[in-house]
Order: sequence, then structure tokens, then C-alpha cells
Amino acid sequence: MTSGEEATGVDLRSDTVTQPTAAMRAAMAEAEVGDDVYREDPTVIDLERQVARRLGKEAGLFVSSGTQGNLVAVLSHCQRGDEYVTGSNYHVYAHEGGGAAVLGGVTPWPLPLDDRGLPDAAEVTAAVKPVRDHCARTRLLCLENTFQGRPFSSKDLAPLVRAARQQGLQLHLDGSRLFNAAVALSEDVASIAAGFDSVTLCLSKGLAAPVGAVLCASESVVQQARRWRKVLGGGMRQAGVLAAAGLVAMEDVGHLQEDHHKALRLAQCFTPYLGAAVTCHTNMVFLDLAGDCREQLQEQLRANGVRVGGYGRQLRLVTHQDISWEDIAYIEALVPELWA
Ligand SMILES: *Cc1c(COP(=O)(O)O)cnc(C)c1O
Repeated sequence: MTSGEEATGVDLRSDTVTQPTAAMRAAMAEAEVGDDVYREDPTVIDLERQVARRLGKEAGLFVSSGTQGNLVAVLSHCQRGDEYVTGSNYHVYAHEGGGAAVLGGVTPWPLPLDDRGLPDAAEVTAAVKPVRDHCARTRLLCLENTFQGRPFSSKDLAPLVRAARQQGLQLHLDGSRLFNAAVALSEDVASIAAGFDSVTLCLSKGLAAPVGAVLCASESVVQQARRWRKVLGGGMRQAGVLAAAGLVAMEDVGHLQEDHHKALRLAQCFTPYLGAAVTCHTNMVFLDLAGDCREQLQEQLRANGVRVGGYGRQLRLVTHQDISWEDIAYIEALVPELWA
């Protein structure tokens, strides 16, 4: 692996890069399917029911991506001229092309995040606009869990849920990695999701399915979300082929704990050299580097067959199912060489 560039190197850029497991491919090959736009795909229906039940919601909607799940959720909770409150670095605001504004006329109101990655409850309250012709109608609070790997318990989220409810807001949770939070905190996903009207769960992050997410909510919200999904061109036909992999992903989420252990071991490779610049939560390690060190270190890792994410001064290393303990051991041996 020392010669570097081969595609089979260690890919720590994201937990989206996983290959479907043999069990997933087998389930996909054998999936019973039908036309899901007619609600005739038994595998999609099964997946939607199972995920909704796990998250403690009435209904689920299989969507093509986490982005689509968040978008149809916002469009279902809000009308044109409404507003949603969220975090300035949350995915729904910062990384989804402004979809709700572009396609739904729904304005975001981003709030700064504290050290943990949550907005302040008093600022949520203050963000709610008075009922006046001058103002957008504030309808929704969107939170994210995990955020940059940080898991939030229902207790962490409770003040925000309370503030939103007191103002009559709906609540949406971008729970793309909700199972990572649940596993890390030993709290049930349904308990974390309980305060929210809707939750997006990604199947193609740490859960390692090839495609898709499930939006879970009440029957009535899911009904509207299904309509929006169709409007967006996201109504899929024999989608059970994809849902089958999602069902396999849901069978065992315990392996996420191992991803977290691997991330911790990775973090420990770097702390002797970078100290407090290394942070690790759930399956993500961040290295905060000064000056142009970031590109240099990223390049050195790359030259040794290790791919990591890089944004500004930060490197991001994400563990997942396709990172083996041998890969971790390889990096443990490599890092001291880079500093030698
Ligand atoms: C990946 C991700 C999404 C979007 O998921 P896609 O499937 O890539 O569209 C949304 N929110 C968070 C927090 C994510 O990490």
C-alpha cells in the first residue's frame, strides 16, 4: 500500500464511500418489487414501516438521498413565505443548495452554534417573528444529530424542543447519522427522535447501504412529503431493489460502535503530534491545522494511500464499515513516519 495511488487504498473521506455488503447485493438481487409510485412495492413498504417503527413515528417515506428527505420535510412543514430556523453550519442550510428557498419559497433563518454544535434556546425564541405583514411566518426549527460527529441526547435537545414548542413551531431533525448518536449515547433512536415531528435517516452513511434515506413523520406529513417527492421527480418505480439493501442495513446497526472505536484509535495516532487540535466524536476525527499544514499533511497521507477529507484548515477522517483494523494499524505505523 506504500506506493499510494491505487483505488483500493484507505478511504477515510466519508462514510458514504462504503461498498454494499454481499448480504445487501444478495437481498437486492432477490427483492420482491412493484411500482412504488402506485404504492405496490412490498420491499419499499416494508422498509418504510420498519424504519418508522424504529424511530417511533407513524410513517416513513423512502427518498433518494438525505438532501431530498430534508427538502421534502421542510416543504411539507412550511408554505411559500414561511421561514425555518436552523444552525448556520447545519447541512440543511449550508450544504443543500438552498433547496427550500430555491424550490419552495421558504426562507432559512440560520443561528450561530455553540461549542457543542447547538443553537441557543433563547435565540430560537428570539428568532420567531411577530405576526406582521412585514415578516416571514416562522414555522419550523431544524436541528442535526450527529453534527460533525457530535451526538446529542434527548436531554441535550430538550431545551430547544421546549423553546420551539412554546412558539408553536414544528420540529425537524436531520438525523442522517442518528444511529451513530444512539449507539454512542446508549439511547434509543426513538427516544432521541421523540421531540421531533419529522426525522431524516440516511441509509447510505455509516449504515452502508448504496442509496437512499427514509423520512419518518406522522401519516399526514408523510402524505404531503410523498407529493413533494413526486413533484421533485423523486417518485421511483421498482425501488425495492434499493430498499432491500436498506433493510439489510437496518438489521444490524451495532457495527457502528466499532466504527467509533476505530475513530478513537485514529485520533490517538495524531494526538502525540497535534494535541488539542485533534477532536473525535462517534465516527469522525477532525484535525485543526495551522497555515498550509493541512494541504501538506493531506498530500503526505494521499501519497501513502490514505485519503482524507480537507476543508479550510481542517482534515476530516471518517471511519466506516470498509475500514479494517489492519487499515488502522497501517495508519498507526505511518503517522510517526510522517513526523520523523
Ligand atoms: C450526508 C448528509 C445529508 C445529505 O445526505 P445525502 O444523502 O448526501 O443527500 C444531510 N445531512 C447531513 C448531516 C449529512 O451528513
